[in-house]
Amino acid sequence: MRTQVGIIGAGPAGLLLSHLLHLRGISSVVLEKRSRDYVERRVRAGVLEQGTVDTLVAAGVGGRLLREGLSHHGIELRYGGAGHRIPFEKLVPGRAITVYGQQEVVKDLIAARLEAGGDVRFEVEDVAVHSPGDRPYLTFGGERLDCDVIAGCDGFHGVSRPSVPPGVLRTYERDYPFAWLGILARVAPSSEELIYARTERGFALHSMRTPEISRFYLQVPPDAGEAEWPDERIWAELKARLETVPGFTLTTGEIIEKGVTPMRGFVTEPMQYGRLYLAGDAAHIVPPTGAKGLNLAVADVRVLTEALAAFFRDGSTELLDGYSGACLKRVWRAQHFSWWMTTLLHTFDSDDDYGRKLQLSYLDYVTSSDAAATTLAENYVGLPLEG
Ligand SMILES: Cc1cc2nc3c(=O)[nH]c(=O)nc-3n(C[C@H](O)[C@H](O)[C@H](O)COP(=O)(O)OP(=O)(O)OC[C@H]3O[C@@H](n4cnc5c(N)ncnc54)[C@H](O)[C@@H]3O)c2cc1C
Repeated sequence: MRTQVGIIGAGPAGLLLSHLLHLRGISSVVLEKRSRDYVERRVRAGVLEQGTVDTLVAAGVGGRLLREGLSHHGIELRYGGAGHRIPFEKLVPGRAITVYGQQEVVKDLIAARLEAGGDVRFEVEDVAVHSPGDRPYLTFGGERLDCDVIAGCDGFHGVSRPSVPPGVLRTYERDYPFAWLGILARVAPSSEELIYARTERGFALHSMRTPEISRFYLQVPPDAGEAEWPDERIWAELKARLETVPGFTLTTGEIIEKGVTPMRGFVTEPMQYGRLYLAGDAAHIVPPTGAKGLNLAVADVRVLTEALAAFFRDGSTELLDGYSGACLKRVWRAQHFSWWMTTLLHTFDSDDDYGRKLQLSYLDYVTSSDAAATTLAENYVGLPLEG
């Protein structure tokens, strides 16, 4: 078997890359180790930057997103017994975020690929990368797929990054001393906009997916297990962290999914080796506080598509050679923003009164100065994309 681009992973990065390449007349095969049902149900991110929405719409996969996505023009920072709105419409006019579940993006992309006759293979076993330096090929389940280029879109725990010879990639990492317990609940959101709440008990986020489904997150210890968090405890803790302003009541309902996610920042440099290009979580991850992971995957894929289009059109490697450099600027901006939001809103060492005072001082600044609030707003809705 032969294809122009062998893609490992049917997450947002791999599927969008395959779709954008198809629009440019470039062939690809997507190899995914999980089932279609599994990847379509996997609940993860849900905040799409303006540029991500524009990219999906321009690629012809934004119909349902435009119909069902919830457009938001602000978020609330809640702390010290008061809520403070960050108004995007005033600070970054014309730019907003759209709340639309990552699994819905994945469903739309799979449908588009299959409708166009795309080759997306699920439940593929033992994918391995060979000769990434010059003549790359992939093996899986006893088969071999020769490729001009391999795109490693297989997430943080995939096989593509470890296939690069030792010493080539440099990694940068930051672990946080807490995790997030994420909850999906069958209950109407108690607020129209996202609420980022800082309390002495820890951080909480009130988010949503649809007018009937809410999404919540709680800061929990890094080693927390789901078993320690029965539904009653989750609702009690969410109420304690969110019902901190007069008149706000959290509506509770059936919890339909829960999971603990570690909080980590990670970047690999460069994001390429020979004919292997890493995109999305395979190359970098951010703590989810800034809602950047999925959006960064989309930004990488846009850059990679342009570079591959030039390569297959006239053999030019200039854009491919510059792929990593073109992506890393945005990656590091997102790393910083995610670190900043995490540092601002979470409870760290309870003995560190100095650190607590700094947090509160900065929160007061962000919620009272348009200059500071604009920094938050323009990073949150997403800085303009390349190209
Ligand atoms: C548990 C979790 C929860 C998250 N929650 C949030 C959140 O609440 N908010 C937020 O903003 N962001 C969140 N993120 C981040 C966001 O979801 C990711 O940034 C986004 O999924 C990146 O897309 P991707 O396509 O690069 O990687 P992924 O979505 O991880 O896709 C990689 C794909 O590769 C497949 N794969 C892996 N290894 C192999 C292999 N060996 N062979 C074949 N296929 C393979 C995987 O099954 C997967 O389908 C979360 C991430 C994780 C891991």
